[in-house]
Amino acid sequence: MFVFNMKMKKERIIIAIDGHSSTGKSSFAKLIASKYGLIYVDTGALYRGVTLFASRNSFIGKDNTIDTVSLDEGLKSLSLQFKPSGPSGESELYLNGELIEREIRSLEVSSKVSFIAALPSVRNYVDSILAKYGVERGVVMDGRDIGTVVFPDAELKIFMTASARVRAMRRYREMTARGENPDFEEVLKNVEERDFLDENRETAPLRRADDAILLDNSDMTIQDQLDWIEKIIKERWN
Ligand code: C5P
Repeated sequence: MFVFNMKMKKERIIIAIDGHSSTGKSSFAKLIASKYGLIYVDTGALYRGVTLFASRNSFIGKDNTIDTVSLDEGLKSLSLQFKPSGPSGESELYLNGELIEREIRSLEVSSKVSFIAALPSVRNYVDSILAKYGVERGVVMDGRDIGTVVFPDAELKIFMTASARVRAMRRYREMTARGENPDFEEVLKNVEERDFLDENRETAPLRRADDAILLDNSDMTIQDQLDWIEKIIKERWN
């Protein structure tokens, strides 16, 4: 197995993984974290947590209009916290002390999250949670704006994509595996709509950082992707 060169100071590096929805960023990031002894941070979970909070408090209207005054007020006392969930360095998200991992993955939250994530006050709220990881470093973080806005100085930036159909099929299979009964066309529509909203919002839109390496995994297995990153790490740091 490949071992980090000590010169790389692995405990201090940040790996930023950005890209489109359902490209497998989090699975990939988790494997990288466990292989190289880094902490994994799922930034999308935080946006999903804020969305669940807004939805439960009826701050999101039927047409996805948002009561930003009430939401901003609510953010002042909202606590979103990752807690370790096992020995492998994985963690789960808690909202004011309640475990919300399952709730934040619902299609309802998925269909609203990009509207919430477009709000500058929400982005500031999430960025303030993420900032502390920048002090400690030694993290793999996945999201939409990690390499462009949150950690533009990350040592390694990857931009992941795949065709919308392949991504929708992956999400559809995940949902069926959880015992849900989703409609494929609806899942596909959600994937495409989120791409559009994430790429076209004013604050921190999804885009590939100039120095990010592109990974199109439409036809790659997870092992192919691990081999791909191992090669890059060897080339950069050996
Ligand atoms: O990664 P995931 O699909 O769970 O992210 C959910 C949503 O959160 C994305 O569609 C995007 O709108 C938003 N997001 C973001 N910036 C991040 C991470 C996620 O805007 N860094």
